[in-house]
Amino acid sequence: MAKPVVAVVGRPNVGKSTLFNKLIGQSLSIVENTPGVTRDRIYAECEWLGHSFMLVDTGGIEPQSDDVILSQMRRQAEVAIERASVIILVVDVRDGVTATDHDVAQMLLKSGKPVILCVNKCDGVGDVPAEFYEFYNLGLGDPIAVSSVHGHGTGDLLDEVLRYLSPEDEDDEEDDVIRVAVIGKPNVGKSSLINRMAGEERVIVSDIAGTTRDAVDTGVENE
Ligand code: GDP
Ligand code: MG
Repeated sequence: MAKPVVAVVGRPNVGKSTLFNKLIGQSLSIVENTPGVTRDRIYAECEWLGHSFMLVDTGGIEPQSDDVILSQMRRQAEVAIERASVIILVVDVRDGVTATDHDVAQMLLKSGKPVILCVNKCDGVGDVPAEFYEFYNLGLGDPIAVSSVHGHGTGDLLDEVLRYLSPEDEDDEEDDVIRVAVIGKPNVGKSSLINRMAGEERVIVSDIAGTTRDAVDTGVENE
């Protein structure tokens, strides 16, 4: 059985990729100041207190956007919701609660999956900023104050993840997967090929060269 999946979702630029990198302890995912930079989901194995799971950095959820890339990212996030055992919703303490946060929270509540609310960019030491308490309004229970840049609060966050993972979900067996790399010049059809093999839309396909900016791991099972 595959490892349980934990998905990181949230608006562009709230710090999902930074959190993801912090949690897996290495820089796999592109972090940039421009909203919408992470266009594909990124998977990595994450271990905490002897338990391991797959962490997914989604490209974000933007339910009301007409923009093509953003709406495709939303679809990817929906797939992540479908697959994930636990969902981490990341919000930005500096922005306060936005309308999009509300929409996303509603979407996640409807999914019925356990949701952990991560209030990111709480960089200061000591008391959390007053704005933190606003996030109780999302109806997702106790938010966790995190600074993905400094690493504060990530332990509490991971503890919370483990609370929701059932031991049966875990897989002690050695990985016997064959690793296949699909490489090639931009725009030759790598993403289309992978999607065809994976049997679903796992990678954003666009005729804009260079759309896939991060490496994407996709598990494929055949017979
Ligand atoms: P994503 O679009 O949600 O994946 O956001 P990114 O991880 O790419 O981060 C967007 C911006 O927020 C980058 O400039 C990060 O350096 C910054 N950022 C992320 N986490 C924190 C944090 O905990 N504190 C501060 N001050 N900035 C952060
Ligand atoms: Mg990102």
